[in-house]
Amino acid sequence: MMARPPLQPITSRAGRFLAIYEESFVGIGISSNVYAAESGGRHYIFDASGHPDLLSYLNAAGIPSESIAAVFLTHGHHDHVRGLVSLSRIGVPAYLNMNDLGLLENCIGKRDVRDVFEGNDILSGLGLRIIPTPGHTPGSTCYYSGDEGLLISGDTVYADGYFGRTDLPGGSDSEMEKSLKRLMGLGVHSILPGHGAYIMEGGGRSISVALSNANFLLR
Ligand SMILES: [Zn+2]
Repeated sequence: MMARPPLQPITSRAGRFLAIYEESFVGIGISSNVYAAESGGRHYIFDASGHPDLLSYLNAAGIPSESIAAVFLTHGHHDHVRGLVSLSRIGVPAYLNMNDLGLLENCIGKRDVRDVFEGNDILSGLGLRIIPTPGHTPGSTCYYSGDEGLLISGDTVYADGYFGRTDLPGGSDSEMEKSLKRLMGLGVHSILPGHGAYIMEGGGRSISVALSNANFLLR
């Protein structure tokens, strides 16, 4: 894998995003990327990494504990949720689609988690909409800024034109294809994925490649 700097600021009209790449989380095996969006002096975290002590990484990245407003999960897999252990200790509210609550609880036990669903305007201050994209897991969710075509895509689609695996418990080939079709229609430019590099341009093409890959591979 190409070496990437551990922290990358992303200039975006929706706010300033900071990407903490998965390779930054050491000593734990697999992790997701983490994105932090800053708005009005508060930080909104997207995905919690596979590191139980995500909070130390956020603090080291210049994000003080008291500025963390909430954490939004793209789905319930361990490499995206373990960091909640440190965030829930300081009372950060966590959001996840309830269809993935069982996955999360299998991994880190019972947590006070709030539901995200389409039409919920909890992220409207950041200009982000909630797009349900089942397929990788039943509760997989993308966060989307229509103003700038920016998609926080979790493990539904990656910037290189691949889609998340559908062969794990709760995965569905047909739901994945439907979700990719839906994303195709959004006008995506930028993809901030759960794994691998993010891209600021060309996201629509990545999704279209992912959809052809899915049409070909999921048969
Ligand atoms: Zn996953």
